[in-house]
Amino acid sequence: MIYLDNASTTKVCRRAVQAMEPYLNEMYGNPSGVYQLSKMAKKIVDEARENIAKALHTRPDNIFFTSGGTESDNWVLENAHNFGNHIITSTIEHHAILNKCVSLEKEGMDVSYIGTDREGLVNPYEIEHEIKSNTALISIMFANNEIGTIQPIREIGRIAKENGVMFHTDAVQAFCHIPIDVDELGIDMLSASSHKFHGPKGVGFLYIREPEKMLPLIYGGGQEKGKRAGTENVIGIAGMSAAVTEAMEQLHERRNRETQLRNYLIHRILREIPYVRLNGHSTKRLPGNANFTIAGIDGASLVVVMDREGICISSGSACSAGSAGPSHVITAIGIPEQYAYGTIRITLCADNTKEEMDYVIQRLKENVKRMRAM
Ligand code: PLP
Repeated sequence: MIYLDNASTTKVCRRAVQAMEPYLNEMYGNPSGVYQLSKMAKKIVDEARENIAKALHTRPDNIFFTSGGTESDNWVLENAHNFGNHIITSTIEHHAILNKCVSLEKEGMDVSYIGTDREGLVNPYEIEHEIKSNTALISIMFANNEIGTIQPIREIGRIAKENGVMFHTDAVQAFCHIPIDVDELGIDMLSASSHKFHGPKGVGFLYIREPEKMLPLIYGGGQEKGKRAGTENVIGIAGMSAAVTEAMEQLHERRNRETQLRNYLIHRILREIPYVRLNGHSTKRLPGNANFTIAGIDGASLVVVMDREGICISSGSACSAGSAGPSHVITAIGIPEQYAYGTIRITLCADNTKEEMDYVIQRLKENVKRMRAM
């Protein structure tokens, strides 16, 4: 099998598996307890918090464990009420943001959805233009999960600060893939998810610059300083922390390797398959992301055909893959509907090889040719 759907989820790295094992077995204590067994569990949770804080160049007190990207995003948006009644976001956010915004609109929140250019970039000045006296929050994703475009986060952070507006970024696709310094970039809140960087599923975190301003999303016990109740996912947190350690150690090496492989794949596909468009920005893009719209084919059918040959790719994001319409991201960047259905996403990791790329390109060429002839 050749796995090329790393934006959907990633294989858990060996280091994360090893880090989780003791907490599945002998170290099963509840971190809230007072005896040694509990202290061992608490220790790993504390160490993970420090480790993650270091990766973002911030302090452990600003890291709050959650069940993943969706919860972190929802937590931030649910708190917008505290700061005003207007949110600025983009048309290409993940549904964890967009669907929560729709629900908030029904409760009376005003939401401005900023469009993008054809490469998927938002214009920071358009965001600035939308700021009103009652703007509670700007929420713009760090990098897009479908087309890989990396947003001008520093500029948005500066605009948010100058206007006294809170800035949240959904960094689920970016954290552990590109370097992030929350202070330098002016980020007030940041969502991340472990399964996007070779950690286990169902665990993530929210970075919060000023936790005292946030109300919990989940009420209950006093875990996470009373901000996020529920017994900690010790196993998941241990695995996530190990995945962060490995990703940080290998960040530049992985990034270079993925970029090289991705460029090779993109150049060959654009050269060897006629009537193909590369979606997303040519340089401001996630290292492992390639997204194409191929005229005359149905992306979902191509995914099925490739799967029969042992190749996992996707026709959109995992979340929208089951839905009937074309991807909201692909239509937002201006691809007409009749072409939008011909979109596929190939997302690599540093473990992929050039031989795999050669095989995938060859299979793509043949399958596209056959499907076009049908
Ligand atoms: N945000 C983005 C940009 C994503 O890509 C995803 C997952 O695909 C999520 C949020 C949701 O994260 P999780 O699966 O951890 O809930």
